[in-house]
Amino acid sequence: MVATTDLAGDVGEILLTEEQIQARVAELGAQISADMAGRTLTLVSVLKGSLPFMADLMRAIRLPLRIDLMEVSSYGGATTESSGLVRILKDLSSSIEGEDVLIVEDIIDTGLTLNYLVRYLRGKKPASLRICTLLDKPARRLVEIDVDYTGFTIPDQFVVGYGLDYGEIYRNLRFVGVLKPEVYSAG
Ligand code: 5GP
Repeated sequence: MVATTDLAGDVGEILLTEEQIQARVAELGAQISADMAGRTLTLVSVLKGSLPFMADLMRAIRLPLRIDLMEVSSYGGATTESSGLVRILKDLSSSIEGEDVLIVEDIIDTGLTLNYLVRYLRGKKPASLRICTLLDKPARRLVEIDVDYTGFTIPDQFVVGYGLDYGEIYRNLRFVGVLKPEVYSAG
Protein backbone atom coordinates (compact mmCIF):
# COMPACT_ATOMS: atom_id res chain seq x y z
CA MET A 1 0.00 0.00 0.00
CA VAL A 2 0.96 3.64 -0.34
CA ALA A 3 1.55 5.16 3.09
CA THR A 4 0.66 8.83 3.32
CA THR A 5 2.07 11.23 5.87
CA ASP A 6 -1.34 12.64 6.80
CA LEU A 7 -2.60 9.65 8.79
CA ALA A 8 -5.55 11.46 10.39
CA GLY A 9 -6.40 13.05 7.04
CA ASP A 10 -6.85 9.58 5.51
CA VAL A 11 -9.71 8.93 7.92
CA GLY A 12 -13.12 9.80 6.49
CA GLU A 13 -15.22 9.19 9.58
CA ILE A 14 -14.26 9.08 13.23
CA LEU A 15 -16.27 6.35 14.98
CA LEU A 16 -14.77 6.75 18.45
CA THR A 17 -12.93 9.80 19.70
CA GLU A 18 -9.91 9.65 21.99
CA GLU A 19 -12.11 10.97 24.84
CA GLN A 20 -14.78 8.31 24.29
CA ILE A 21 -12.17 5.55 24.26
CA GLN A 22 -10.40 6.80 27.38
CA ALA A 23 -13.68 7.17 29.30
CA ARG A 24 -14.78 3.66 28.36
CA VAL A 25 -11.38 2.14 29.22
CA ALA A 26 -11.62 3.76 32.68
CA GLU A 27 -15.09 2.21 33.13
CA LEU A 28 -13.87 -1.21 32.04
CA GLY A 29 -10.91 -0.99 34.42
CA ALA A 30 -13.20 -0.09 37.32
CA GLN A 31 -15.62 -2.90 36.49
CA ILE A 32 -12.86 -5.52 36.17
CA SER A 33 -11.29 -4.31 39.45
CA ALA A 34 -14.63 -4.71 41.23
CA ASP A 35 -15.46 -8.10 39.70
CA MET A 36 -12.03 -9.58 40.42
CA ALA A 37 -11.41 -7.89 43.80
CA GLY A 38 -9.01 -9.80 46.01
CA ARG A 39 -7.39 -11.68 43.14
CA THR A 40 -4.22 -11.30 41.13
CA LEU A 41 -4.91 -11.13 37.41
CA THR A 42 -2.89 -12.25 34.42
CA LEU A 43 -3.68 -10.14 31.37
CA VAL A 44 -2.92 -11.86 28.08
CA SER A 45 -2.84 -9.43 25.20
CA VAL A 46 -2.86 -10.38 21.55
CA LEU A 47 -0.33 -8.47 19.49
CA LYS A 48 -0.14 -6.24 17.68
CA GLY A 49 -3.54 -4.56 17.55
CA SER A 50 -4.25 -4.76 21.30
CA LEU A 51 -1.11 -2.92 22.34
CA PRO A 52 -2.58 0.57 23.10
CA PHE A 53 -5.70 -0.94 24.69
CA MET A 54 -3.59 -3.22 26.87
CA ALA A 55 -1.35 -0.33 27.94
CA ASP A 56 -4.34 1.82 28.95
CA LEU A 57 -6.50 -0.94 30.44
CA MET A 58 -3.76 -2.38 32.67
CA ARG A 59 -3.29 1.08 34.21
CA ALA A 60 -7.04 1.42 34.77
CA ILE A 61 -7.18 -1.81 36.79
CA ARG A 62 -6.56 -1.37 40.50
CA LEU A 63 -5.45 -4.92 41.25
CA PRO A 64 -2.10 -6.70 41.34
CA LEU A 65 -1.54 -8.10 37.86
CA ARG A 66 0.93 -9.78 35.57
CA ILE A 67 0.98 -9.36 31.82
CA ASP A 68 1.88 -11.73 29.03
CA LEU A 69 1.81 -11.27 25.27
CA MET A 70 0.91 -13.57 22.42
CA GLU A 71 1.02 -12.96 18.71
CA VAL A 72 -1.12 -14.95 16.32
CA SER A 73 -1.88 -14.81 12.63
CA SER A 74 -4.61 -16.44 10.60
CA TYR A 75 -3.46 -18.77 7.88
CA GLY A 76 -3.71 -16.97 4.54
CA GLY A 77 -6.45 -17.79 2.06
CA ALA A 78 -10.19 -17.64 2.46
CA THR A 79 -10.65 -21.39 2.87
CA THR A 80 -8.17 -21.89 5.68
CA GLU A 81 -9.22 -18.64 7.37
CA SER A 82 -12.81 -19.76 7.58
CA SER A 83 -11.69 -22.99 9.23
CA GLY A 84 -10.30 -20.89 12.07
CA LEU A 85 -6.75 -22.17 11.77
CA VAL A 86 -4.45 -19.83 13.61
CA ARG A 87 -0.67 -19.82 13.72
CA ILE A 88 1.03 -18.85 16.98
CA LEU A 89 3.88 -16.47 16.18
CA LYS A 90 4.65 -15.73 19.84
CA ASP A 91 3.56 -17.93 22.70
CA LEU A 92 3.10 -17.12 26.39
CA SER A 93 6.29 -16.49 28.34
CA SER A 94 5.06 -18.09 31.58
CA SER A 95 2.66 -20.78 32.73
CA ILE A 96 -0.92 -19.63 33.39
CA GLU A 97 -1.91 -22.81 35.25
CA GLY A 98 -4.08 -21.86 38.23
CA GLU A 99 -4.10 -18.17 37.25
CA ASP A 100 -7.09 -15.86 36.78
CA VAL A 101 -6.59 -14.90 33.14
CA LEU A 102 -8.15 -12.04 31.21
CA ILE A 103 -7.65 -12.02 27.44
CA VAL A 104 -7.30 -8.46 26.15
CA GLU A 105 -8.35 -8.20 22.50
CA ASP A 106 -8.65 -5.29 20.10
CA ILE A 107 -11.60 -6.46 18.02
CA ILE A 108 -13.79 -9.51 17.54
CA ASP A 109 -15.03 -9.93 14.00
CA THR A 110 -15.82 -13.51 12.88
CA GLY A 111 -14.63 -14.73 16.29
CA LEU A 112 -12.44 -17.43 14.76
CA THR A 113 -9.17 -16.08 16.15
CA LEU A 114 -10.49 -15.75 19.66
CA ASN A 115 -12.27 -19.08 19.50
CA TYR A 116 -8.94 -20.73 18.75
CA LEU A 117 -7.16 -18.74 21.43
CA VAL A 118 -9.71 -19.56 24.12
CA ARG A 119 -9.43 -23.28 23.40
CA TYR A 120 -5.64 -23.03 23.38
CA LEU A 121 -5.48 -21.14 26.68
CA ARG A 122 -8.09 -23.38 28.37
CA GLY A 123 -5.69 -26.24 27.66
CA LYS A 124 -3.15 -24.48 29.89
CA LYS A 125 -5.54 -24.96 32.86
CA PRO A 126 -6.03 -21.41 34.18
CA ALA A 127 -8.26 -21.06 37.29
CA SER A 128 -10.52 -18.79 35.25
CA LEU A 129 -10.52 -17.33 31.75
CA ARG A 130 -12.34 -14.15 30.84
CA ILE A 131 -12.41 -12.03 27.70
CA CYS A 132 -12.23 -8.26 27.34
CA THR A 133 -12.46 -6.73 23.88
CA LEU A 134 -12.36 -3.06 23.00
CA LEU A 135 -14.49 -3.49 19.88
CA ASP A 136 -17.11 -5.99 18.84
CA LYS A 137 -18.46 -6.40 15.31
CA PRO A 138 -21.24 -8.95 15.90
CA ALA A 139 -22.58 -8.68 12.32
CA ARG A 140 -19.90 -11.00 10.95
CA ARG A 141 -19.70 -13.54 13.78
CA LEU A 142 -19.21 -17.16 12.66
CA VAL A 143 -18.69 -18.75 16.08
CA GLU A 144 -20.38 -17.87 19.34
CA ILE A 145 -18.01 -16.27 21.86
CA ASP A 146 -18.85 -15.50 25.46
CA VAL A 147 -17.43 -12.02 25.92
CA ASP A 148 -17.24 -10.76 29.50
CA TYR A 149 -16.29 -7.13 28.82
CA THR A 150 -16.94 -5.13 25.63
CA GLY A 151 -15.82 -1.57 25.10
CA PHE A 152 -17.95 -0.70 22.08
CA THR A 153 -20.20 -2.56 19.67
CA ILE A 154 -19.61 -1.20 16.18
CA PRO A 155 -21.20 -1.70 12.75
CA ASP A 156 -19.67 -3.92 10.06
CA GLN A 157 -17.03 -1.50 8.85
CA PHE A 158 -13.25 -1.93 8.57
CA VAL A 159 -11.77 0.36 11.21
CA VAL A 160 -8.27 1.64 11.93
CA GLY A 161 -6.56 3.45 14.78
CA TYR A 162 -5.89 2.84 18.49
CA GLY A 163 -3.86 -0.24 17.56
CA LEU A 164 -5.79 -1.32 14.50
CA ASP A 165 -4.00 -1.21 11.17
CA TYR A 166 -4.46 -1.13 7.45
CA GLY A 167 -1.32 -2.58 5.83
CA GLU A 168 0.44 -2.20 9.24
CA ILE A 169 -0.12 1.60 9.21
CA TYR A 170 -2.52 3.78 11.28
CA ARG A 171 -2.00 1.91 14.59
CA ASN A 172 -0.75 5.09 16.29
CA LEU A 173 -3.92 7.14 15.77
CA ARG A 174 -5.52 7.99 19.11
CA PHE A 175 -9.06 7.50 17.78
CA VAL A 176 -10.88 4.77 15.84
CA GLY A 177 -12.14 5.61 12.37
CA VAL A 178 -12.93 4.46 8.88
CA LEU A 179 -10.51 5.21 6.04
CA LYS A 180 -11.60 7.20 3.02
CA PRO A 181 -12.38 4.93 0.06
CA GLU A 182 -9.57 6.46 -2.00
CA VAL A 183 -6.98 5.20 0.52
CA TYR A 184 -7.96 1.62 -0.29
CA SER A 185 -8.02 2.19 -4.03
CA ALA A 186 -4.53 3.73 -3.84
CA GLY A 187 -3.23 0.59 -2.07
P1 5GP B 1 -11.69 -12.58 13.70
O1 5GP B 1 -10.90 -13.86 13.84
O2 5GP B 1 -12.56 -12.28 14.88
O3 5GP B 1 -12.46 -12.56 12.41
O4 5GP B 1 -10.66 -11.43 13.48
C1 5GP B 1 -9.99 -10.82 14.47
C2 5GP B 1 -8.81 -10.07 13.88
O5 5GP B 1 -9.08 -9.57 12.56
C3 5GP B 1 -8.51 -8.88 14.73
O6 5GP B 1 -7.68 -9.19 15.81
C4 5GP B 1 -7.91 -7.92 13.72
O7 5GP B 1 -6.54 -8.20 13.58
C5 5GP B 1 -8.60 -8.25 12.41
N1 5GP B 1 -9.75 -7.35 12.17
C6 5GP B 1 -11.06 -7.66 12.19
N2 5GP B 1 -11.83 -6.58 11.93
C7 5GP B 1 -10.97 -5.55 11.73
C8 5GP B 1 -11.15 -4.16 11.42
O8 5GP B 1 -12.26 -3.61 11.27
N3 5GP B 1 -10.01 -3.42 11.31
C9 5GP B 1 -8.77 -3.95 11.46
N4 5GP B 1 -7.73 -3.13 11.32
N5 5GP B 1 -8.56 -5.26 11.74
C10 5GP B 1 -9.65 -6.05 11.88
